[in-house]
Amino acid sequence: MVIWRIPRGESVSRPRSYCPNCKAQIRSFDNFPVLSWLLLGGKCRKCKTQISIRYPLVEIGCAGLFLLAGLHFRQGYFELAIACTMSATLLAVSVIDIEHYIIPNKIVLFATLVVVGTVVGHCIFISRWIDLRNCLVGGGISFLLFALIHFGFPSGMGFGDVKLALLIGLSLAAIRLAFFPIGLFLAFLAGSIFGLGSMAIGKATRKSKIPFGPFLSIGALATLYVGPELAKIWLGR
Ligand SMILES: [Zn+2]
Repeated sequence: MVIWRIPRGESVSRPRSYCPNCKAQIRSFDNFPVLSWLLLGGKCRKCKTQISIRYPLVEIGCAGLFLLAGLHFRQGYFELAIACTMSATLLAVSVIDIEHYIIPNKIVLFATLVVVGTVVGHCIFISRWIDLRNCLVGGGISFLLFALIHFGFPSGMGFGDVKLALLIGLSLAAIRLAFFPIGLFLAFLAGSIFGLGSMAIGKATRKSKIPFGPFLSIGALATLYVGPELAKIWLGR
């Protein structure tokens, strides 16, 4: 719903879910994630317009990422909260970036506030401020790095990518400082492999626009789960 509404400038809270074709409100018993789409055969109950399979796919994707976060961060409520915020945000942002070539401010700003709020609350709770310091260091360096790339090569990377890099830097560094350079490195690696691959099969040229949001997201999420192994290599121990 966020993916459909935010790029169209619509509110995410009002009105309730409606059919994009006939504008009929989705009744509450037709509004179960995935299940309702299957039961209605992927069609609006009223006008029978096909409802995109993207809805259940995004819902399944989000549930899968939450499940992964829940299994992986069983011991830490703090890491779990950040991982879930990142998962939902990065999934929505990636789909929007692929479809519209934009990274909406609203979503990234909201998620950034949630993460910073979580880190501050956590630091007050444990009376230790190192996680907040790490969060600010990671966010600051990621922001500066991407801002340099953005202003150095304005055609390559949008300012939305810079703000997304800030969110990812903040979040990864709050969990573990060494995670943020790993996440950014993996993002560039994934982006380069995709870019070179597209050029190799003739689908892109050096000037082609590549949405970078999905690669930042892949780098960030991969770091959450294989980060400790990569950190060992990164730190050489
Ligand atoms: Zn309809």
